[in-house]
Amino acid sequence: MIADKLQQVQERIVKACTAVGRDPASVRLLAVSKTFPAGSVQEAFEAGQHAFGENYVQEGVAKIEELKDLRASIEWHCIGPLQSNKTRVVAEHFDWVHSVDRLKIAERLSEQRPSSLGELDVCIQMNVDGGANKSGLAPREALALARDVAALPRLRLRGFMAIPEPADDFATQRALFERAREAYDQARSEGLPLDTLSLGMSADLEAAIAAGSTMVRIGTAIFGRR
Ligand SMILES: *Cc1c(COP(=O)(O)O)cnc(C)c1O
Repeated sequence: MIADKLQQVQERIVKACTAVGRDPASVRLLAVSKTFPAGSVQEAFEAGQHAFGENYVQEGVAKIEELKDLRASIEWHCIGPLQSNKTRVVAEHFDWVHSVDRLKIAERLSEQRPSSLGELDVCIQMNVDGGANKSGLAPREALALARDVAALPRLRLRGFMAIPEPADDFATQRALFERAREAYDQARSEGLPLDTLSLGMSADLEAAIAAGSTMVRIGTAIFGRR
């Protein structure tokens, strides 16, 4: 049952925080519902989960429409790669975008965010592997983009997101996440008002939390195998 799985993930978060002396309330859980039907989202919602991540824009929008009665109580996050021709539909339907990786995309989201909605929360996607994983910007470029995005109207820059390649040991995984954490600390020391490090998935949430993640994106451990 989804409620039990959610409970288990919450327990993993608490344990991971305790292990490194962090307050469990400093880590948010984003339930990644890609490929699962609206009914599964509703089941998780009824178990108390209110933030959901979707990778594919059309699929996400279809679920948002299907669950429109719950719209005011659900936060929808777009976490997948974003092409320019999809920015309008994202700006009109989602609350967050984690995968901004170029200024053009950010400018379009800024222009297309309806004034009837609040600011769109955004994260810059960073590549912390140095090439192996093609999505996202190297830390230095991600920082530069963050400075530009912070100046755009109708967007609220929240932080960085990264998806490192899986590593076979905790220390290696944590070291990759730490690269995002360093860029985040640097941006904050420059005065950017960031509060989000979107790091960690089902297999590596403990290492991500050890490195400072404030939002873990969990699919398989809640909804099962895709
Ligand atoms: C699918 C996906 C997740 C969730 O991955 P799990 O391993 O199923 O927890 C998190 N983030 C992104 C960007 C994803 O595409």
